Amino acid sequence: MYLYDELKQHVRGRVEPVNLLRKPLEKGIAYYLGLWIFDDFFSEVRAEYLHGEYKFWFLNDFLELLKFHSLPSSTEMENLEKEIDKIDNLFVNEEGEYYDYLDSKEGNKLLLILYKACTARYEEEIKLIRPLYAEEFSDRILHDRQLCFYISQLLVEIGFDGDDDDTGPKQWVSREHWPERVKAILKSRDRGKCTSCMSDLTMELEAPIHIDHMIPLAKGGCNDIVNLQILCDKCNQSKSAKFMDVPSSIPRYIKRKSA
Ligand SMILES: [Zn+2]
Repeated sequence: MYLYDELKQHVRGRVEPVNLLRKPLEKGIAYYLGLWIFDDFFSEVRAEYLHGEYKFWFLNDFLELLKFHSLPSSTEMENLEKEIDKIDNLFVNEEGEYYDYLDSKEGNKLLLILYKACTARYEEEIKLIRPLYAEEFSDRILHDRQLCFYISQLLVEIGFDGDDDDTGPKQWVSREHWPERVKAILKSRDRGKCTSCMSDLTMELEAPIHIDHMIPLAKGGCNDIVNLQILCDKCNQSKSAKFMDVPSSIPRYIKRKSA
């Protein structure tokens, strides 16, 4: 639901993604989702909006992210870190004071000042991290076929298929031929197997591999890679414009055991 809200806000709140999605996307919707989520994370609006413990957790994550990217230490970073340590100690020693402090105006104000000082200090570095974050984000999404399907569904639900003038769904991305890169990514994620019958298409030298829209185009599905999967010839012919269950693409050995 969080992603849904993020997406909805971006789609409805800004002009840019609307125009952007109607043009051919070079990197795909997952990459742009990563950019938007990153921008939201580093927005002062967010830091100001969050209160109490939420602000504290947010600043913890923020500091972790700066450190994860090995940014050089600075007075600004040290000040924020000191304050976070101080608040952490309150929690360990005197839980009541911890909440009182985080709910106080002074506490919130100080955290915000320290956050702003840090974002100003690392402005250039944060700009460089942005595309890296988006690439990693889209990489994670594209490996998970069910998550891709989920995002495709959200896009349809948001009503972002351009179907506002009764002429039927329009495509954001028009592609007559799938780029080789798209085919390679799909074959790799789907492990060369038909998503429906699981027959191994890499074992047959002549077997055609069909790129299928998980949500059919006629139902508002998009041409973006998040909506694509591979099917064998037979399954492709029987599927046509229907929906089918989308099985997970995550191998069993890395799936989390359910409790
Ligand atoms: Zn098949």
